[in-house]
Amino acid sequence: MRLANLSGRAVVLVDGGAIDVEGLTDGAFGPDARSLFDDWDSFRAIVAERLSGATATPYQVGDLGAPVPEPRQVFAIGLNYADHAAEASLPTPDFPVVFTKFPTSLTGPATTVTLPSPGVDYEAELVAVVGREAREVSAADGWSYIAGLMVGQDLSEREVQRRGPAAQYAMGKSFLGFAPTGPALVTLDEIDDPDNLAIKGWIGEQVLQDSRTKELIFTVPQLVEYISGICRLLPGDLIFTGTPAGVGLSHTPPRFLRPGETLMTEIEGLGRLEIPLVAGYNTSA
Ligand code: ZN
Repeated sequence: MRLANLSGRAVVLVDGGAIDVEGLTDGAFGPDARSLFDDWDSFRAIVAERLSGATATPYQVGDLGAPVPEPRQVFAIGLNYADHAAEASLPTPDFPVVFTKFPTSLTGPATTVTLPSPGVDYEAELVAVVGREAREVSAADGWSYIAGLMVGQDLSEREVQRRGPAAQYAMGKSFLGFAPTGPALVTLDEIDDPDNLAIKGWIGEQVLQDSRTKELIFTVPQLVEYISGICRLLPGDLIFTGTPAGVGLSHTPPRFLRPGETLMTEIEGLGRLEIPLVAGYNTSA
């Protein structure tokens, strides 16, 4: 199932269009996306039973919002690919490096990002969506707590991130629009091998990041184990799992995002984000 948010209403995307969740479930779920996570298993069961008989309506991609618009918690992982840790001249971590992107930074796939400075970097990331409450879960059971996967960008303003004597990941990565997600939440039954997906980021002809999620140091189930051993993971929470090598900061000189460019991010089987960038600062200075 490919779940999306169409003008604020939860929909299932199928060939030929979108099916409204509230209509499909006779009001049991929807119209808001949050309601699906109140009882994810029941939601899945109803949709599985009724989807084949439902009629899809054509939609505009520009009307898609964040598949999970209001998660209660957003976790993000730093240095989770060995090649990215190496390019940052940092050791491979023994434990996950966890920070947050505040939920107000979230957007969907149809978005234009305003760059607050010339120092904004890109980070293509696999985003896991929590399907049910998790507390002290073992990695062996980790996938069973995940509702599905999305494409994400962990946009990062490097000056703010490095401002002061200690890193401020949460602030540098939480400017408005800095967490595009989508185009849909893809449930695991649609994904052959969720531990090994091609992940790619590019601008025009320039391939910036090109890796596979099997290179993750801490896998999605291991992250569920680690985070749920400290926090309570709640249905609808997001986990940005980290980015592979090739971020702008690793280039000499840094290759940061420029107004007028369109940032492309794609993950095998999940879809693509296509994000135009505009300046939020004086470009003539
Ligand atoms: Zn990141």
